Amino acid sequence: MKDYLVRGIVNSKNCRVFACQTTNLLEEARKHHNFWPTASAAMGRMMSATLMMAKMNKNEEKMTVVINGGGPIGTMMCVTKGDGKIKGFVANPEVHYTYNDTGKLAVGVAVGNQGTLQVIRDMGLKEPFTGSVPLQTGEIGDDFSYYFAVSEQTPSVVSVGVLVNDTNEILSSGGFIIQLLPEATEEDIAYIEEAVKNCPPVSKLINEGKTPEEILKLLFSDVEITEHQDLFFECDCSKEKMASALITVGKDELQAMIDEDHGAQLCCQFCNAKYDFSENELKELLNKI
Ligand SMILES: [Zn+2]
Repeated sequence: MKDYLVRGIVNSKNCRVFACQTTNLLEEARKHHNFWPTASAAMGRMMSATLMMAKMNKNEEKMTVVINGGGPIGTMMCVTKGDGKIKGFVANPEVHYTYNDTGKLAVGVAVGNQGTLQVIRDMGLKEPFTGSVPLQTGEIGDDFSYYFAVSEQTPSVVSVGVLVNDTNEILSSGGFIIQLLPEATEEDIAYIEEAVKNCPPVSKLINEGKTPEEILKLLFSDVEITEHQDLFFECDCSKEKMASALITVGKDELQAMIDEDHGAQLCCQFCNAKYDFSENELKELLNKI
């Protein structure tokens, strides 16, 4: 099944809803980055939440999410432009922890909870909008939920999950978000709390073949789907962009690369693509400065 997300509205319960499946794009990201299972789970949860958040705005805009909780995984970053394409990386992909009692992937341990979740939205204006909140648990879903409550004053339920098999391949990845509209009543809130409590883990539902629409229907029988978007892992790096980056390192650095290394290799941190620059290419760049 293709990866996609849906957006919908539940008029009877005064909330708007999002759900997505990101299994294939996470598997693609895993192959590029060689994520160990807990890193896959952390990145998959983050990508699902970021893609759904990007769909909350009417206009397509560049959205960057950065999480750094002081844990062994280091800085995590995701970038999307609201077009369904996402790229991302973690500083240390080789992390794997499980909780002793449940055997579940210990995302909160890998990420840590001494740090922030930061959202940078570039709407093409002079200054991008930046919002930041302290991490709650490092389990990602809780942290996004806290971000929506504090930074956007929107009470939200964020449920994101990932299942990985014995050989580290991604079995399922995805999630849902429920956001209360201002008209929501105490009864609506009570209904939503109960529905979420009774809902099986979203990674399990996706692994069983449930679609994003079916997951939302489990929670709200009368959900009305208003939007549908295909999702992909895609990086927009190129040799030209890498060359521009090389120019910004400055004359002395470039000269050193020419004299000492007789060339340079740059690696895209978002997709691990390698770009080689020969001595002559570096000299051409040097002449442009
Ligand atoms: Zn790239």
